[in-house]
Amino acid sequence: MRAFDHPADVAHAPGFFLMRGALRPNYEVPARAVSLREGLARLGVAAETPALPDRAALERVHAADYLDWLSTAHAAWEALPGAGPEVVANIHPSPEMLAQGGRAPAGMVGQTGWYTADTACPIGPGTWDAAVGAAGCALAAAEVVAGGEDAYALCRPPGHHAYAARAGGHCYVNNAALAAVAMRDRGAGRVAVLDIDSHHGNGTQGIFWDSADVLTVSVHGDPAGYYPWYVGRAHETGGRAAPGFNLNLPLSPGTGDDSWLAAVAAGLARVAEFQPDALVLSLGFDASEHEPLGYLRVTAEGFARAGEMIGAARVPTAIIQEGGYNVDLLGTLLARFLNGFGR
Ligand code: ZN
Repeated sequence: MRAFDHPADVAHAPGFFLMRGALRPNYEVPARAVSLREGLARLGVAAETPALPDRAALERVHAADYLDWLSTAHAAWEALPGAGPEVVANIHPSPEMLAQGGRAPAGMVGQTGWYTADTACPIGPGTWDAAVGAAGCALAAAEVVAGGEDAYALCRPPGHHAYAARAGGHCYVNNAALAAVAMRDRGAGRVAVLDIDSHHGNGTQGIFWDSADVLTVSVHGDPAGYYPWYVGRAHETGGRAAPGFNLNLPLSPGTGDDSWLAAVAAGLARVAEFQPDALVLSLGFDASEHEPLGYLRVTAEGFARAGEMIGAARVPTAIIQEGGYNVDLLGTLLARFLNGFGR
C-alpha cells in the first residue's frame, strides 16, 4: 500500500493543554508520527513525501477568512504585548452573543475565540506548515484512491474536529474532508467517510451536514462524558438537504472489542447500503485500552479485526490518520490494523 507523510509535522509541537482545570503537557506530539512511521516500516512500507496543496485545494473545504487567519495567527499573536508562546483562546462567542448579532472583531484575541472551538488547538510557529503538509498527505492519498487503489496518509496534526472555519481538538485543517471532496472532484459520485477515532468526528459531520453525496458515519465514545461533549449523539442524522446521511454510533465508557466491533459493523452496513465509489477512513487509535485519554477499551486484536472488516468491504479506501496518543503503542496498532486490512 502507498503511504504519505510530510516532514513539516515535526515543526508542530504544541505545549498547552487544559484538562479539568489543570495545565498538562499536550498529547499531540511529534513522537506520535515517529511511532506511526515505525509501524509502517515494520510492514516494509516507505512513506512518500507529497506535494503541498495550493490555496484553492484548501478552499474546497475551508473558508477563505479562516485560512487567512490560521496562516498568520502565530505571527499576529507574537506581536501582542505580553503574549504567551502559543495562540490559545480565552473567550468564545456564546450562543446569546451570536443570536444578538455577535461578530468577529479585528483584534487577535477575539478572532482566536471566533476561529477556535476550544483550548485544545494551540497554534505555534510551525502549526500552519504542519497542517498544510498533513493536508497534502490526505490529498495525495485521495489521488491514489481515485485510481482504484488504497492509500494511507500519516496526517499530523489530525483533522476530524476541524470545521470549515474553526479549529478544535488538536485539529486545524480537516484532512478527511479534503480527501472526500477531492475524490468527488475526480469523479466519484458518492463518497463515504467512516470515522473510528474514539472521539466523534464533529468537524467532518459539520462540513458534510447538508451533503447527500457524502455519507458520514462515526463510531465513538458517548459525548455525554467525552469530547466533543455537545454533538455526536444518535439523533443527529443530517441536515435538511441530507436527511439520513449522517450516522452517529456513540458507545458507553469502557466498551471493549465485541461491542466496538459490532458498532463498526453497523457503520459498515450503512456504508454498504450507500454504495460509495470510494471510502475515507478516519483512523484513530485512541479507542485503545491503553490510551492515556482513555474512554473505550479496544485491544490490538480488536484493531486488527476492524482492519479485516473494513478491508473486506472492498471499496477503494483512503486511510487518514486521526488521533491516538499512546506513543509507545501507535506503531504496533497501525501495523496490526493494516495487516488486518490486508489489501
Ligand atoms: Zn480522538
